[in-house]
Amino acid sequence: MSKPKSDLKLRERAKEHLEQAKSLLASPTETNICYAALELRLCIECLAYRLLELYKPQSSFEAISKWQPDKMLKELVAVAGGVTSDLVIKIDFPGAETVEATEKRPDVKWVRSNWQALGSFLHTPTIHQMSKGRKKDSADAEARLQAIIEELDRIFSSEIFDIVLEFGTAWPCSCGFMINRSPHWLASNNRTSCSECGTEYEVYAADNEIRYRPIVIDWLCSECGTKNEIPIHKIKSNAECKCSFCGTNYKLKEQFRITKKT
Ligand SMILES: [Zn+2]
Ligand SMILES: [Zn+2]
Repeated sequence: MSKPKSDLKLRERAKEHLEQAKSLLASPTETNICYAALELRLCIECLAYRLLELYKPQSSFEAISKWQPDKMLKELVAVAGGVTSDLVIKIDFPGAETVEATEKRPDVKWVRSNWQALGSFLHTPTIHQMSKGRKKDSADAEARLQAIIEELDRIFSSEIFDIVLEFGTAWPCSCGFMINRSPHWLASNNRTSCSECGTEYEVYAADNEIRYRPIVIDWLCSECGTKNEIPIHKIKSNAECKCSFCGTNYKLKEQFRITKKT
């Protein structure tokens, strides 16, 4: 069990946004409701990103780069499983009572529906909606925001938080980052990428062990004939590479080729 350090202080920032929303709703004018909705949206985003930060070794580069918290969490659940469920920790002490504590977490479905709903409070009704007599219903909006605050208060009432159970298969990436993939993920995947640098790996089983190797493309130096390799995640137009033997520099060029249809 470990507790990764956070330089981004996302949990603390989430709590500040929640408190800000509460103080705005103490005077629930239409303007304050709108700003409170924004604060709650930011609170949910910070909580979701903190989970991603905690599970970075188990997540993929693609998950990190997705900014919407609901989509990001969905992908995180797909690779790590159970990330957004409340986590119950029990510790048995010989001859004493079992100690139990729960980390309460935002559920992915709850994040999806409430984060999106909060976005709807940030807009003024369209001209079409106004011409049909639709106005913002402040009482409904306030009730929805209070319900969201109730769930966020539940999350912040956790006796413990930021707990990550270490499991799965871990290996060091060439950039120094420790990649970790859960048994849940390994059961149905054979390719992944480092969350830190994007290096792609093939993961496979051999001799009853989980093994991994970076996915590379071989190329021959036209000057000295040396066989070189380039990581697949670096293959893009205008990328540069160098022969490991003679040092000749190369540039990647994209080309179309007509091939016989099969
Ligand atoms: Zn890496
Ligand atoms: Zn060469």
